[in-house]
Amino acid sequence: MEGNRFDDERHELIESLSRTGTIKTEKVKDAMLKVRREDFMWRSNKYGSYKDSPQALGDTGQTISAPHMIAIMLEEMNLFPGLKVLEIGAGSGYNAALMAELIRDPPNSKKKKSEIISIERMEDLTKFASENIKRAGYSDIVSVYCGDGTLGYPEKRDKEIYDRIMVTAAAPHIPKYLLKQLKSDGLLLIPVGDRYVQNLLRITKKKENQLQTKNICECIFVPLLGEDGYI
Ligand code: SAH
Repeated sequence: MEGNRFDDERHELIESLSRTGTIKTEKVKDAMLKVRREDFMWRSNKYGSYKDSPQALGDTGQTISAPHMIAIMLEEMNLFPGLKVLEIGAGSGYNAALMAELIRDPPNSKKKKSEIISIERMEDLTKFASENIKRAGYSDIVSVYCGDGTLGYPEKRDKEIYDRIMVTAAAPHIPKYLLKQLKSDGLLLIPVGDRYVQNLLRITKKKENQLQTKNICECIFVPLLGEDGYI
């Protein structure tokens, strides 16, 4: 019975995000219809699964982002199979699962290339996100590690590794190692601002190491805490 109620609520929310133009592409819509947000909610808070607002992850002080904000970010990320993606701020694992749906290699592809690495600084959330990812069936694509994502992954490695980097916490500036680890023509999505309000920026790294920045919208995220973030 409960499953049915959530299925209805999921369809209603995703249809409404499509109608208002927040969800623009079929592939993002399909992914958001497929991944069950209730599987990534804290146990005591399942009733909030399809409220279009951030929801508390227990008493960790962190939140699972609002579906409309995730839809905006997924549309801007231009995700497709074969990409290597870094996420900073695994939280519940919900966004990582959605990205996995979008980059999953086709069933008959010979070489497994698509990969998501998601970094989380809190140990209990690293465990929570890993378990959710595993239960939902995405652990072949998504790996969750505990660490300071402001330093990239591996930390402080000065090498172009990722096609896409998505930061789901508010940064005071763009962390240096994230730019270094982004490949040429790669995209970095990051909320930059103060602790109360930020601008969601989409940064394209051009060949000559030039950056092209698009300001997408105002947003409010929990702070990115770490050596190259808020202290
Ligand atoms: N993407 C998540 C929501 C993230 S909320 C989801 O889909 O549920 C932001 C997360 O970033 C929090 O869990 C917070 O603990 C984490 N975080 C903050 N600073 C971090 C850092 N330096 N490295 C890794 N994770 C960080």
